[in-house]
Amino acid sequence: MLALQWVRMADAYEVWLNQVRDALRSVNMPMEDWQGIWRFDFQHEFNAGTKADDAAMKANRFWWHQQNKSLNQDCRESGDCWLPRNHQGECQPVS
Ligand SMILES: [Zn+2]
Repeated sequence: MLALQWVRMADAYEVWLNQVRDALRSVNMPMEDWQGIWRFDFQHEFNAGTKADDAAMKANRFWWHQQNKSLNQDCRESGDCWLPRNHQGECQPVS
């Protein structure tokens, strides 16, 4: 009964965001740490109907890309690759 009330009261976005947070924790990219440094637009992904797991992976790539850029270690092979410079294999776009 309490749980049902909670679900009804909770903003759907908050529920979704908690799923994203869990997914990010599972890949050792805590949202609490990274979102404070480089803000990823989770609200935009939610509004676009992105699944929580997919949004988590997008944020993961976004943060890696930002970190690589800040360390001047970003890949220059293509404009939108989140892998570090001189990486193996093909480029992988951020989004
Ligand atoms: Zn690349």
